[in-house]
Amino acid sequence: MAQLTDRIAVVTGASRGIGRAVALELARRGATVVVNYQSSADAANQVIEAIQSGGAQAMAFQADVSQEEGANNLIKAAVDTYGKIDILVNNAGTTRDNVIMLMGAADFDTVINTNLRSTWLCSKAAVRSMMRKRYGRIVNMTSISGVAGNAGQTNYSASKAGIIGLTKALAREVAARNITVNAVAPGFVLTDLTSSLPEDITKKINENIPLGRWGTVEDVAQATAFLVSDEAAYVTGHVLQVDGGMAM
Ligand code: NAP
Repeated sequence: MAQLTDRIAVVTGASRGIGRAVALELARRGATVVVNYQSSADAANQVIEAIQSGGAQAMAFQADVSQEEGANNLIKAAVDTYGKIDILVNNAGTTRDNVIMLMGAADFDTVINTNLRSTWLCSKAAVRSMMRKRYGRIVNMTSISGVAGNAGQTNYSASKAGIIGLTKALAREVAARNITVNAVAPGFVLTDLTSSLPEDITKKINENIPLGRWGTVEDVAQATAFLVSDEAAYVTGHVLQVDGGMAM
């Protein structure tokens, strides 16, 4: 199943969790993958080793993608090394949960910058190269919190709803250049991001998932791999919920 042979992919926040699974899946399908991380160099190198032992090419690249310089350097490194960028998965993300009365403005800014600003910055940098090649696939990692809203996550839900608006606007802007822009909206997936949720909240979440289980990182990776494939050539501006039916 090497449908992504000769494709160059950049995955932000690919050292851990969902981004790691996306990087591994794209590589398994034949893509060359640039594995971005912010601080987990060892984890990123393990992803590179796993990809290379499977026979695909990969490189790790440290960059804080919430900063313009970091985002530009990441995309430039991919284009300088491999000559182009076909696929961009804007996955890097974080949370600073609290009820609004107890949430500081700094936690609002951190979440908006890490989740939304990074998506805009990396997309802007990548689209320049994609337009020249008249080919591109962008997938933005949103969340059902951005679709339905989630108490205790005004910052996170705003960032993820913003990503949905960005996805649709950019999809319209670049469609004529054969670039598609879609979003994946996971429900609850067990990663470092969700591992500290209190037991009572976890129990309540489980009761609201029609398929009766949390998602896996592979569930999200498979949906992402579809959206960057040639099979999804006529899909753009779409938000694909991978949530066990939670937000339908
Ligand atoms: P995670 O396990 O906490 O991993 C986050 C990844 O993002 C790490 O690789 C981290 O790099 C990277 N990162 C964070 N800030 C960054 C920055 N400024 N620049 C570059 N990389 C940065 O999170 P996850 O659960 O896999 O989540 C991945 C995405 O899915 C996020 O956008 C999240 O909002 C979304 N999502 C997750 C769930 C869920 O249930 N887990 C549900 C819906 C949506 P380092 O390792 O170097 O820190």
